[in-house]
Amino acid sequence: MMCALRAAERGRAVCLLDHSAKIGRKILISGGGRCNFTNIHAGPANFVSQNPHFAKSALSRFTPEDFIKLVRKHRISYHEKKLGQLFCDGSAGSIVDLLVSECRDAGAKFRLSCDIRSIRKEERFIVQTNLGEFRSDAIVVATGGLSIPKIGATGFGYDIAKQFGLKIVSPFPALVGFNFSPQQMDDFAELAGVSVDSEVSSSGPNFRENILFTHTGLSGPAILQASLYWKDGQELLLNLCPEKDLEEWLLQKKKAGAKVEMKNLMADVLPKRLAERFSQLYAKPGRVAELPDRIIVDLAKHINSWKLVPRETFGYQKAEVTRGGVDTSELSSKTMESKKVSGLYFIGEVVDVTGQLGGYNFQWAWASGHAAGESV
Ligand SMILES: Cc1cc2nc3c(=O)[nH]c(=O)nc-3n(C[C@H](O)[C@H](O)[C@H](O)COP(=O)(O)OP(=O)(O)OC[C@H]3O[C@@H](n4cnc5c(N)ncnc54)[C@H](O)[C@@H]3O)c2cc1C
Repeated sequence: MMCALRAAERGRAVCLLDHSAKIGRKILISGGGRCNFTNIHAGPANFVSQNPHFAKSALSRFTPEDFIKLVRKHRISYHEKKLGQLFCDGSAGSIVDLLVSECRDAGAKFRLSCDIRSIRKEERFIVQTNLGEFRSDAIVVATGGLSIPKIGATGFGYDIAKQFGLKIVSPFPALVGFNFSPQQMDDFAELAGVSVDSEVSSSGPNFRENILFTHTGLSGPAILQASLYWKDGQELLLNLCPEKDLEEWLLQKKKAGAKVEMKNLMADVLPKRLAERFSQLYAKPGRVAELPDRIIVDLAKHINSWKLVPRETFGYQKAEVTRGGVDTSELSSKTMESKKVSGLYFIGEVVDVTGQLGGYNFQWAWASGHAAGESV
């Protein structure tokens, strides 16, 4: 829609085809129904791509402030929740309404419930659909990734790219939780519902936010962030008590002759159930003063640098985004047009540019859409 409105503003004849009966369904479910529509700190470092420089041009030409101007123009009230994340005060539907009304004012047409059967290029592009044939000089593919198939996500954009000979970086679920291995299930499933401020990393940066134990694994913002950088079989590194060097603290308590049970002492710095379970798994029952140093050190290590190889992610049913997509080496970073096929553009999540959690993915959708809309 961002591309459609910009192209229509420039006087282009635009028709937006979507197989869904309702436009912008992902926006409607985003941000818990309040749409985290941008992040005021958004910059290239918040994105993952095989080419980390690719997103720079589009992001610099349509900034969070540009989107905020539109939000203000439509009198949508919003707030910063945390870390630069801007959310609507009311419903995410107001962002869909904003885009639809801007598109309509600019003259873009919509064709919904439109099943696209084939696309080919002769002199012009020819698109066969259940609503008839469409011909155009350019096609912009904005079909998103594979996440949340039940609201209409498909791999159609990747199929179009392949059909025209463009390379794809293998898609993978991202911004998603992880399932435990069977052993981890035995050890930690009983912690379902426990949430704790933590630091988490896989192969990327360290994220400090909450994690959440679920019935089958780990979730919560810090886990979702780390998942963006995780590859199959890789280990997650978690610090469940970032404020304290537990080894030093516990050994001091022992030296001072602490008579308290380990699980009770740990409950001073961790949620009670977490303290109980980790003490049960990695320390013996007994008073802190009576435990051998090596057990105290081992327990502290499991809290301050817990290493865990999860079985797998929760998959596309739960993933907020799809990492990978159309290889950026195939596209112009200025216009999003294919270098091989003139008039064929790819924007948004279908491209191998994936943002961290916190409004970055919409900012990429707006910015890449705007870049294509300027050129198409
Ligand atoms: C639960 C959830 C919450 C999220 N919350 C946020 C958030 O708060 N902030 C944020 O920045 N990001 C969030 N995201 C990510 C964000 O929604 C996406 O990155 C963004 O919507 C991508 O925009 P897009 O236009 O590329 O693709 P999409 O928004 O996925 O749009 C793709 C469109 O293509 C259509 N389509 C797909 N296949 C076909 C086909 N074969 N034929 C015709 N049409 C087709 C779909 O119907 C859809 O309308 C969230 C994602 C999820 C799943």
